Amino acid sequence: MPLDPNAYPWMSAREIAAGVRSKTFSAENVAKAALARAHKLEPSLHAFVTILDDLALQQARAVDAAIAAGRDPGPLAGVPVAIKDNLCLKGTRTTCSSKILAQYVPPYTATVLERIVAAGGVMLAKANLDEFAMGSSTENSAFGATRNPWDLERVPGGSSGGSAVAVAAGIAPLALGSDTGGSIRQPAALTGVVGLKPTYGRVSRYGLVAFASSLDQIGPFARDAADAALLTAVISGHDERDATSANRPVPGDLANLQPPASLKGVRLGIPKEYFIPGTDPEVERAVTAAIEALKGLGAETVPVSLPHSEYGIGVYYLVATAEASSNLARFDGVHYGHRTKEKVPMVEMYARSRAEGFGPEVKRRIMLGTYALSSGYYDAYYLKAQKVRALIKRDFDQAFERCDAIVSPTTPTPAFKIGEKTDDPLAMYLSDIFTISANLAAVPGLVVPCGFTNGGLPVGLQLMGKPFDESGLLKIAAAFQAKTDHHARHPQL
Ligand code: GLN
Repeated sequence: MPLDPNAYPWMSAREIAAGVRSKTFSAENVAKAALARAHKLEPSLHAFVTILDDLALQQARAVDAAIAAGRDPGPLAGVPVAIKDNLCLKGTRTTCSSKILAQYVPPYTATVLERIVAAGGVMLAKANLDEFAMGSSTENSAFGATRNPWDLERVPGGSSGGSAVAVAAGIAPLALGSDTGGSIRQPAALTGVVGLKPTYGRVSRYGLVAFASSLDQIGPFARDAADAALLTAVISGHDERDATSANRPVPGDLANLQPPASLKGVRLGIPKEYFIPGTDPEVERAVTAAIEALKGLGAETVPVSLPHSEYGIGVYYLVATAEASSNLARFDGVHYGHRTKEKVPMVEMYARSRAEGFGPEVKRRIMLGTYALSSGYYDAYYLKAQKVRALIKRDFDQAFERCDAIVSPTTPTPAFKIGEKTDDPLAMYLSDIFTISANLAAVPGLVVPCGFTNGGLPVGLQLMGKPFDESGLLKIAAAFQAKTDHHARHPQL
């Protein structure tokens, strides 16, 4: 029986995998439905850098062949997954939405992508992002901005905007993003989907083009918590090719997450520093209502304090830019990337290649980071930032002595207009004020849709957890989604 293409967009990954495994429809049917929707919506949304027509069909047919031969295709059987275009996929260009990598075809595949394919998943498309994941709106892409499916005049957030939109617009039930300071959670909130930044070390970063190596983490987008848990289970776990990946067991309940009927005994910390004037009143209203709903499920709330959060943005823009300036040194037209066509002496060739290849935000970060690391300034900036980072981490340790998870808004505003903040980098940086601390403290952060503004824009609730307690966060979100229907509302496209 063929798959109903009208039903495809809002089917969960679990439903698709079950249908493929039981031969109700084929993985090829699913891939065709996903590719058709991707192509149909691409002119209005511009979610993708590359749509993987041939590869998706080839992988889907391999899943069907495995089933026909009686082999187990894996828990993601035939499920299309959109991939942020800073994850290396062998033989497919991986651009980081930068001119400097526009022609780069990696000779190897990221561990997370290998694991998805081994689990039966299908690579649907490489999704648009802010160049090298630097940004909060996906406007910094060298290939053009991605649009928010709830309002095409607005940004989807960033930097994983294309991945979030793929899921929000019903093109793929699952996507992968990366989160250095909020790049999974902020776009998840702004497009009305679930997004998880796992604990630093939970997921291998092998094959992720590095931005800020002490903060970067790969994580899932999905429309519900159980699907996000399933993808987390597939990509998590130790990888000897990433020295920072943690050697810890992956909780067995992730692969088949059930919403708990009650949240009795769960203590939710309310950080006073995250409920401050300046947050849009409609965002605050939705978040407050969500906290009431969680209480209605039996959770208890306790006030907590994260007093050093106010330094989060300052610390982040020293640590992240310092690491980025070092990580991006390899893109010089010789080791990697675009090389200038000008016939100039060697040193100038490096400089021109970089000047031609990088966009303005990336250049700004490289200069900031190089400055922060330069001799005479290192102690005043980078070293000081590392010390404050330790204090931010200590705030979280202390808060988690009193609660199991911390709840807060994800962003101070709903999705803003395209172009609204492009001339004011500081205003753009402030959209990450609530998400950055989780990266600095290396704790997991989850976003779940929790309501809409009067204008119909989605709002996301953020839950931050103890290190390696992704499963606790996902269960709270699953219980919340079982009692609410925000995630069942879809954009009109
Ligand atoms: N928006 C933040 C930045 O511009 C975070 C980006 C990210 O998490 N990759 O750096």
